[in-house]
Amino acid sequence: RAKEKGKNTYQFFDETMEVEIRQKLNMENALRKALENEQFVLQYQPKVDVLTGRITGTEALIRWQHPALGFVPPSEFIPLAEETGLIIPIGKWVLSTACAQCKAWQVDEKLEMSVAVNLSMLQLRQENFIEMVEQVLMETGLDPQYLEIEITESSAMNNIELCIQRLIALKKLGVGISIDDFGTGYSSLAYLKQLPIDTLKIDRSFINDITNSEDDAAIVQAIIAMARILKLKVIAEGVETQEQLTLLEQYKCNAVQGYYLSRPLAAWDVVKRHRERMVTL
Ligand code: C2E
Ligand code: MG
Ligand code: MG
Ligand code: MG
Repeated sequence: RAKEKGKNTYQFFDETMEVEIRQKLNMENALRKALENEQFVLQYQPKVDVLTGRITGTEALIRWQHPALGFVPPSEFIPLAEETGLIIPIGKWVLSTACAQCKAWQVDEKLEMSVAVNLSMLQLRQENFIEMVEQVLMETGLDPQYLEIEITESSAMNNIELCIQRLIALKKLGVGISIDDFGTGYSSLAYLKQLPIDTLKIDRSFINDITNSEDDAAIVQAIIAMARILKLKVIAEGVETQEQLTLLEQYKCNAVQGYYLSRPLAAWDVVKRHRERMVTL
């Protein structure tokens, strides 16, 4: 049977592979032009203080609006941007756009909020990374205390020596540091202690089932307890229901982020949302 179909099968694979390779090349070329064609936008997802119900900051999330491909989610182009090195200019654009926006909220709207930017390991690896951040802060005039860097737990643990070194330098600038997707990256507590971290962001996979799974509820409580001992703030990501929020409040989680509080918003909508009291806790 296999022999019979052999030829056709090979042809079939060749064609699919060719299509895939061509698609990837197209995507890569499109990505190369996306910056100069101003096809990227940032949305900002509120981070809400559990005690006050107010927005204390936002996380900048990149979106690619391609005229033909439509909306391309970051999960589909960040890996390609990393593979091609394009994450370096794209990441710099994200940082400077987010810092400028945060400064504008302060100056134009009198809103005191921090802004968080997701960082790729590739950016952190750059020789001139710290200088780049310094330069962006200077150019935008943003006080470093309002900038927060998010780095995923798994990338931090996979590059621990470099991370310790770079994050300490970043911290010296006065920038805040969060460990993203915490709980999924097999942290060694010995390493965690060496990183100059301010905040743990509990991965949304644990929040998702927190009301049904005793295990997940226990893990979340353990992370919150550990954060308290290490004097770190703790924020839960992916909060989608009032029930999840109520539990997190009981567990004394400091802050929450998720669709229940707010979807990622355009910059002008953040101003509107900040002026409302977000939720009754
Ligand atoms: P992340 O940093 O963990 O960001 C949280 C992701 O969860 C965002 O997806 C956000 O829209 C989504 N989210 C927020 N609340 C909820 C919720 O209640 N339920 C569910 N199901 N999802 C929620 P997004 O914007 O698609 O980003 C995905 C990932 O792409 C981010 O994960 C981050 O790792 C990466 N990313 C986004 N923007 C950037 C960027 O500017 N630079 C880099 N290097 N990575 C970025
Ligand atoms: Mg993040
Ligand atoms: Mg996350
Ligand atoms: Mg995540």
